Amino acid sequence: MGDRSGPLGLVILGRQGSGKGTQALRLAAKYGVVHISTGDMLRAAVEEGTAFGLQAKAIMDAGDLVPDDVMVGIVTERLARPDVVGSGFLLDGFPRTEAQAESLAELAGDRLHLAINLDVAVDEVTRRMLSRNRADDTAEAIARRLDLYEQQTAPLLAWFGTRGALVVVDGLGTEDEVFDRLVAAIDHACSS
Ligand code: AMP
Repeated sequence: MGDRSGPLGLVILGRQGSGKGTQALRLAAKYGVVHISTGDMLRAAVEEGTAFGLQAKAIMDAGDLVPDDVMVGIVTERLARPDVVGSGFLLDGFPRTEAQAESLAELAGDRLHLAINLDVAVDEVTRRMLSRNRADDTAEAIARRLDLYEQQTAPLLAWFGTRGALVVVDGLGTEDEVFDRLVAAIDHACSS
């Protein structure tokens, strides 16, 4: 991971229902970086009704993962755009597998500085997701997503950890409390 020269490059990891999306938006605004949510990008493709969008919808509804090569292609293209090159980025929802993390390391290299794990336990995120009543939040899809997270995405914590580029932040508490914790962790990690 790179030293701090040039714009900030961040990754936020966390289970679905951890509050990651909300905090990612606030962090991107605070640090002046581009929020890149792969889930939002896929949902936009679904809305456009393209052939790709239809395929993505079926995968997302089932709680499965879109293939790595597709996701890497989407993110490669996004990271090359001038707004991201100029201002830096906060990746939200990517990487989700070790193959994606390897590709990101190759792609972003020194532009990537830190991964943040927004930590909320499985029981708590399940409770939160069941209470928000979203159409894609069936009990089956939630269980499938959490399962995939443990299998595919949780190992990324060790992956970033061994590269000295991981901070873990407790995601329990009010939105403001969690935000303040995230900012303190990022400022500490990125100024040292
Ligand atoms: P999210 O909004 O990040 O929870 O993403 C919603 C859905 O989009 C996920 O459940 C996956 O089906 C798909 N998705 C988003 N990002 C990725 C990714 N990096 N790799 C594979 N599938 C993804």
